[in-house]
Amino acid sequence: MDIDWSNLGFAYMKTPYRFIARYKDGKWDAGELSTEENVIINESACVLQYSQNVFEGMKAYTAEDGRIVIFRPDLNADRMTASCKRMCMPVFPKERFLDAVRSVVLANKEYVPPFGTNASLYLRPYMFGSDPVLGVKPATEYEFRIFASPVGPYFKGESRPLNLRICDMDRAAPKGTGGVKAGLNYAMSLFAIDEAHRLGYDENLYLDPAGRNFIEETGGANIFFVTKDKRIITPKSDSILPSITRRSMLAVASEYLGIKVEERRIAVDELDDFDEAGLCGTAAVISPVGSITYGDKIIKLPSGLKKSGEITQKLYDTLTGIQMGRIEAPAGWIYMVD
Ligand SMILES: *Cc1c(COP(=O)(O)O)cnc(C)c1O
Repeated sequence: MDIDWSNLGFAYMKTPYRFIARYKDGKWDAGELSTEENVIINESACVLQYSQNVFEGMKAYTAEDGRIVIFRPDLNADRMTASCKRMCMPVFPKERFLDAVRSVVLANKEYVPPFGTNASLYLRPYMFGSDPVLGVKPATEYEFRIFASPVGPYFKGESRPLNLRICDMDRAAPKGTGGVKAGLNYAMSLFAIDEAHRLGYDENLYLDPAGRNFIEETGGANIFFVTKDKRIITPKSDSILPSITRRSMLAVASEYLGIKVEERRIAVDELDDFDEAGLCGTAAVISPVGSITYGDKIIKLPSGLKKSGEITQKLYDTLTGIQMGRIEAPAGWIYMVD
């Protein structure tokens, strides 16, 4: 194989095997690994006409001791269950989810990047309504699939802090689907991300869709702030996607680093008071934020302008240390694939 692991971007690369299970007549079939990367479904499939789909994102990687591991995939299974319920889709059982994830990683083992390359095998479990509907209602047939693609960092040149802009569009609706991992949330964000990139920003920061007074998250990652007295604050809202990285990072901050953490609503006006900010997610890992533009005002995060802020760097080092096996992980956090 001829892959330049250290220079991979975050893009789809076909790998030999994907998992496919089909749901029909009220039950899942046995599922199988397949070498066919194309999906064939009816032109009126519910996913195509009414966006009935959910997904997950996780990474398999080589730890320092050479083992292939995944970080807390049980939480991805649980979150997909919650997403499926919200989207009127059948649940794919947790044990089967974990078995399928493992089988895809093992089948594509030579695509798991070596330790130390900053790359990983990204896993994309997803489910969609596959049979034809025309009147609006949930599908009765579904496919659950997992494909794998080797990836590098989501934000290239990760030592440079990100520049965000507060977006005047919303990614979610009040009491909508912002809290579940559904493709439709991303459809809502495409216009805004395209515009942000054209204007030179790395990502959009969204406000609460009901009142537009409170900070929520970016298009694909949660956000946290570090106060001047070194506490970590992260927004609380039903329309934020509950990031596994964020939940893990908060536990690491309080239990490993003795930092006080707080989850609460954060008003836009408070942005001037913070010392550091960062994004967190499976793809973003922990990425420092240098500035946030709000209209014609640019809010600079003083400790994180040129490089990662001190606390943000500590969080990154500790979390990735746990993931790579350099630091002992809390029980159940590291799932061994082989
Ligand atoms: C997936 C996702 C995240 C990150 O969640 P992780 O579990 O940490 O990967 C954050 N925000 C949105 C909108 C997402 O879709």
